[in-house]
Parts: sequence; C-alpha cells; structure tokens
Amino acid sequence: MRRTEIPHRIEPVAPAPQQAPRQAAPQPAHTPLDALDRAGSPPADAQPPNGRRRFLTLRMLLPFMRPYRGVLLLAALFLMLAAAATLAFPVAMGMLIDRGLIASDPGARVMAMRDHFLALFGVGVALGVFTAARFYVVTWLGERITADIREAVYRHVLQQSPEFFETAKTGEVLSRLTTDTTVVQTVVTSSFSLGLRNLVTGIGALGMLVWTNPTVMPQVLGIVVLIVLPSAIYGRRVQRLSREAQDRVADSSAIAAEILAAVPVVQSHVQEERETRRFAEATEVAFRTAVKRTRARSLLVAFIITATFAAMLWGLYQGTQAVVAGRISAGHLGQTVVYVIILVGAVAVLSEVYGELLRAAGATERLMELLALRSKLEPPAEPRPLPPARGGSSLVLHDVCFHYPSRPEHRALSHFTLEVQPGETVALVGPSGAGKSTVFQLLLRFYDPQSGRVEIDGVPVAQADPKQLRRRIGIVPQESTIFAADVMENIRYGRPEASDEEVVAAARAAFAHDFIERMPEGYRTFLGERGVRLSGGQRQRIAIARAMLEDPPLLLLDEATSALDTESERMVQAALEAAMRHRTTLIIAHRLSTVQRAGRIVVLDHGRIAESGTHAELVARGGLYARLAEMQFGLEPPDEDG
Ligand code: ATP
Repeated sequence: MRRTEIPHRIEPVAPAPQQAPRQAAPQPAHTPLDALDRAGSPPADAQPPNGRRRFLTLRMLLPFMRPYRGVLLLAALFLMLAAAATLAFPVAMGMLIDRGLIASDPGARVMAMRDHFLALFGVGVALGVFTAARFYVVTWLGERITADIREAVYRHVLQQSPEFFETAKTGEVLSRLTTDTTVVQTVVTSSFSLGLRNLVTGIGALGMLVWTNPTVMPQVLGIVVLIVLPSAIYGRRVQRLSREAQDRVADSSAIAAEILAAVPVVQSHVQEERETRRFAEATEVAFRTAVKRTRARSLLVAFIITATFAAMLWGLYQGTQAVVAGRISAGHLGQTVVYVIILVGAVAVLSEVYGELLRAAGATERLMELLALRSKLEPPAEPRPLPPARGGSSLVLHDVCFHYPSRPEHRALSHFTLEVQPGETVALVGPSGAGKSTVFQLLLRFYDPQSGRVEIDGVPVAQADPKQLRRRIGIVPQESTIFAADVMENIRYGRPEASDEEVVAAARAAFAHDFIERMPEGYRTFLGERGVRLSGGQRQRIAIARAMLEDPPLLLLDEATSALDTESERMVQAALEAAMRHRTTLIIAHRLSTVQRAGRIVVLDHGRIAESGTHAELVARGGLYARLAEMQFGLEPPDEDG
C-alpha cells in the first residue's frame, strides 16, 4: 500500500487486551496502530495538529447526532433548567441571610425562615430533578451515538478489500472499534455533559457577578487568570503523561495478547519464565509512568485547591470589611462568594474537559478516517448481470499479470492464461508459492490484476456485482473456518435460509452426517471458538457440506496438505468427489487420487503455466509435474528413454 492511501493521523492508543495479534509483534514497544501510522500517513509528529484544528474534528460527529435532534433539544432544555436552578441557589441563600434573619419578632422570623428554607429546598429539588434528567438524556445520546459509530465502522470495515487488511492488522481495527469508540463514548457522555453544564453555569455565574457586583469583576477575572493559566499549562504535561501511561499499558497488553494466543508454543519451549519476566518488565514501566502522571496531577490539584482557597479567603476578607463598613449586606457577600466558587470551579472543570475533548477529537479523527476509506475494488455503478449457469460456470483468465499490492516487485502471476469449460474439473498443482491460491483470489475479485482479463460466464469479474459473483462461487479453503455456533448453523453459514432437511442432505452428501450424528447433541452440538472439537478431516467435511449447500456453479477447492488418517482421507476424498459433480471445479491438488480424478492438470511454476495435460501425459513427459509427483506422491519418474 502506498504511503498516501490511508491518511491516518494516529496517536498510539491502548489496544483492548483481548486482541491477539495474528503474528508475533517484532517490536512490542510499538502499539499496533503505530504500524498503521507508518504504513499510511505522514509521521504524526512531523506536523502536529494544533489543538483548535483537532478540536474542530469533533464536528465530524455531527452527522451522527443529526438523527437525534429532538433528544438534543431535550438535553439542552434540561441543561438550561439545571443551570438556572444552580444559579438561583446563591440568590435564595442571600435572601435567607438578608431577609430571613432581620425580622425582630421571633415568630415572624421563624415564619420568614421557613419560607426561605422552603424556597431553598425547592431550588434543591429542581436542581436534583433537572440534573438527573440532563444526565439521563445526554448519556443516552452518547451511548446511542457510540453504538451507531461502532456499527457503521464495522459494516464499513467488513466491506474492505483484502488489501486493506494486509496493512491494517485485525488488532488495529479492533483497537479502533473498541478503544477509540470508548474514548468517544466517555467524552460524549460524561465530559461533554460536564463541559456543557460548567460552560452554562460558568457563564451564568459570570453574568450574575457582573450584574450584582460590577466593581468586583476585575478581581474575579484576575483570580480566574491566576489559577487557570498555570493549571492549563501544567495540565498539558499531565495530559502528555496520561497518554504515555496509556501507551505503556498498551505495550504490556500487546505482549499478553501475543503470548496468550501462543501458550502451547511458549510451554513447549519452556519459556514461561522469560515471558513472565518480559510482561512484568512492561507492567513495571507502565506502573512507573502512571506514578509520574499521578504525581504531576496531585501537584496540580494541590495548586488549584490552595490557590482557589487563598483567593477566596482574600475575597472573603475584603467582603467582610465591606459588610462591616456597611457598603454591602451580609447576604450579598454570601451570594457573591457562592457565585465566585461556581465560576472558578466551572473554569477549572472546563480546562480539564478541554483536554478530554482533544483526546476524543483524536479518536474521532481515526474513526472517521476509517469510515472515509474507499475500497479499491469499488463495485461497478451498473453491474452486468451474470447469465444463468447450468451445469457449471465457465471461466477465463487471459494473459493475466498480477502482483500483490504489498509486493510490487514480485509477480504472483505472469501472463497467465487458463480457460475452463462448464462442468470441467481442473487441478492446479505446482511448488509452494507458484501462484495457485492467487488464481482463486482473482476469481473471487479480492484483487484486480494489473493487466489481462478475468471472466466468469463471459462477464469480466470487475463488471459484475461482487455479491452475485461470489454467490456463484463456492470455496473450500485449506484451513476451514468453524464458527462458534452449532453444526447446523456452521453448515448453513452461506445460505442462512436453508431448511434443516437441506442442511442434513448437504452433510450426507459431504460424508459428514455419520460423525455429526455421533456427536453428543448431533446437529445441535456447539462447535468451540475454533472448532477445536473436530479433527482436521471432520472440519474439511463440514466446509465441503457448507459449499455443497450453497450449490454453486463454480467450486474452488483448496485441498488440505496436512496428512489425514486413511479412514478420514477416504471420507474426504469421497466428499470432494461428490462436491465436484454437476459443476465446474478448480482444485488445488496435493493428492494423487485427486489429480487422477481431474480431467486436466495445470502445472504452475513462478506464476506461469509450466505444462498441462492428464496425469498420465504429464508423467510420461518427465517435466516439472513428473518431478513433483515423484516427491509428493512417491511416483517413480519415467525412464529416460521412454
Ligand atoms: P502454496 O501451495 O504454498 O499455498 P501457492 O501456489 O498457492 O502456494 P500463492 O499463495 O498464490 O502460492 O502465492 C504466490 C506468490 O504470491 C508467493 O510468492 C507468495 O509469497 C505471494 N503472496 C501470496 N499472498 C500474498 C499477499 N497477500 N501479499 C503479498 N504476497 C503474497
């Protein structure tokens, strides 16, 4: 993949601990996203996004909010009401002090006090109810939007071409789906709501202060600047350390994810001690970084609290002097003090929320980049329908040259030409890496060749609707995937609407019925996450049954290389033979019995066709096939002279 194709700007994010990288990570110090970063974007630090620009990326969330306009309005309403209640509190308190206490008659005083306390309680109830309502509505919105983003990203990723997955490893995509959406979720639900509340109450408190005490304003602003500015500057350091701590945790989970997926290997090499140590070291580094962050944060908190208190005491001292001098009432002083507390608190919270929002902006950016990706294999705008295929599909690969996007210097297929008639069975053989599986990949249109034609039933695959194309092709891979579901569902995978009877018929045809019946719950037996309860031969027969249920006109079979015991082998061969009937079959063959059954054998070498013919013809010719046959099937090469 060329460097310009995925414009990721990525800051490392802790991958979810359950991710198991498929391959050993060569440098555990990097998070999986680093790899994406290296592959697809200018280095993140070459052009650090400024805060404002990153902040603006949060706008990308707007399309996700649009469907919930009504809920947003409701949230805003509750927000305003809760803010109004907060701001009414100091007024009610000031009135209690000034008016509730002044009545000289004790009876009247009790009555006045009661009224004022009732008013204060009313404010409290309103505050409680509106805050709870706002919390509920905003959180609902955040959860809803996050779920929508998650679904959208997942749906989008599932439609990407294999080329995408070559660069972006499963772990990275998972990390985006889990970690990034979780960051967005936390921020949209809690930080956003916290920020909005404090913004509204902060502005309100400022307004009330200006309105009730025009003269104290410069002092108030001075306090805000004195406290907030250093906190904001120092807060950056805290933020940086937070991210670093998160990265270090990511390192240790990356190690754990890799090793947990390979425990048998670790144990067989007796490396448990070393792996434990490696994990412990990474965890210790994470701990030390976390301590650093916590120390910085504690200092910041100490500063904010002390400074706020000092400023308030100073204000209070001045205020009490003013009350003594008769310039203001005691109630007015109390009211002002509470407004100042609200204001300073709001500003402190806002500076923290800003940092959180920046973090969310980073995560949003990554998610939106993923959503903006266009698969290189865009389906045609007006797909050409494939004609009905009776008795099997025909296929043509004509003068095809193809290299995988990640290996432009290495041609996997070179001027490759192959025609297969409907109903024909063709075996592909050749040394490892000759390009046999690549032929399958092109027929399924997982990649487009750089030159040449690939056609199925007379329609170039690039012009067909990919779904129609792939429905026409059944595939039995070498390593059959068994899903975490029961046998019935596993066979039904490609045709969910098939009836139980059809599933059983397919299983019978694939010689799988008997062993399925012998399982504890028959067709309802649950197959573990990786189908661990099945033997290799059984897995293959399930995969063959799955393909046969789909009844595709073209079957692509990749015969397993692993040795099966004779009984299992016989069953699999019988299943394959049944599967090949009444359709076109292309089979990557590793067994003598299979090649002997094929009408034609095509021998590949270095992406080209080396020779083709029947088994007998090719053995007689004494070329590459004869040598391969000798090695693989133990056949004697023909005599030199004939
Ligand atoms: P085997 O019998 O070992 O499965 P094969 O004949 O099926 O081999 P292919 O898988 O088609 O061979 O591979 C052909 C060439 O393309 C090989 O050199 C291989 O390394 C390369 N190749 C295969 N898949 C990819 C990929 N996704 N990215 C880059 N190169 C690839």
